[in-house]
Amino acid sequence: MDLSLVVPIYNESPNLRPLYDQVIAALAVANIDFELLLVDDGSSDDSFAVAQALANADPRVKVIRLRRNFGQTAAMSAGFDAAHGEVIVPMDGDLQNDPEDIPRLLEKISEGYDVVSGWRKERQDKLLSRRLPSMLANRLISRMTGVHLHDYGCTLKAYKRDVLSQINLYGEMHRFVPALVSQIGAHVTELPVNHRPRMAGESKYGIDRTLRVILDLITVKFMLKYSTRPMQLFGKWGMGIIAVGCISGAITLWMKWFQGLPMNRNPLLTLTAFLLFSGVQFLVLGLLGEIITRTYHETQDKPIYTIRDTVNLEDTL
Ligand code: UDP
Ligand code: MG
Repeated sequence: MDLSLVVPIYNESPNLRPLYDQVIAALAVANIDFELLLVDDGSSDDSFAVAQALANADPRVKVIRLRRNFGQTAAMSAGFDAAHGEVIVPMDGDLQNDPEDIPRLLEKISEGYDVVSGWRKERQDKLLSRRLPSMLANRLISRMTGVHLHDYGCTLKAYKRDVLSQINLYGEMHRFVPALVSQIGAHVTELPVNHRPRMAGESKYGIDRTLRVILDLITVKFMLKYSTRPMQLFGKWGMGIIAVGCISGAITLWMKWFQGLPMNRNPLLTLTAFLLFSGVQFLVLGLLGEIITRTYHETQDKPIYTIRDTVNLEDTL
């Protein structure tokens, strides 16, 4: 199979039939063998019934129904796990993404990229609550992850199957997949895609998503840089803090010996003790991190590297 479309769905029943029709229309022209995976993320409307009806009429439509609402990232992850296609394309279920763009994404993939990320160049959402925070978040993510895209939040992306199978998603992290897979050496590019206003149903998010994205960004940044060597981050801070503590201690002693200020009357003594304590804490955190990293990699036989290709060594892959 060429292509798996993964669509997270939370209360989108009026959009499902038009979505199906548009997908069929877009992919029939390009003659692509595909499956359409609809992941019902605990909808409380009749989304599941509509999806089921579509699946009964067309075996290419497959439905996963989660037991409750787990969130968009989890729904997408469920779809990724069940997908059979060589290329996996997630897409919103509210028709804001345009299925007509899919053949163009696939073309880019066949040029040799592992990930093609959609860029909603003319985004059809509210300015103040959505486009502005998103613009700032995109800049920040670009700077912090070193993977330079204009639009991380666009659900419409295309992934080669094997890069996606190497990462796990948590929280609101679907937008960080390009950054996460670039860590394992995937080639990432972007492609401007069409974006349309939502016609039916309601957006599931508000301004509070910005905060959640920022928190996830901190996690991702840490995972990208230090997940296999936490001691190097915590150790650096620990050493730095201990050094400042030693300086502060030395000043306290100097003031006692040369200025006659008793140590227990000197507030710097408290600072010294505080800094030395926290420095040691950081070092211990780093060591704990090292143990956890080893447990993580060794219990699942997960190497700390990824291989793109081998020659005369087929059994290594
Ligand atoms: N969605 C989901 N679970 C959720 C929230 C959203 O599966 O908890 C789906 C939703 O049905 C839609 C996609 O994720 O297909 C994007 O959601 P939405 O359109 O509300 O986001 P926006 O376009 O406003 O950023
Ligand atoms: Mg939407």
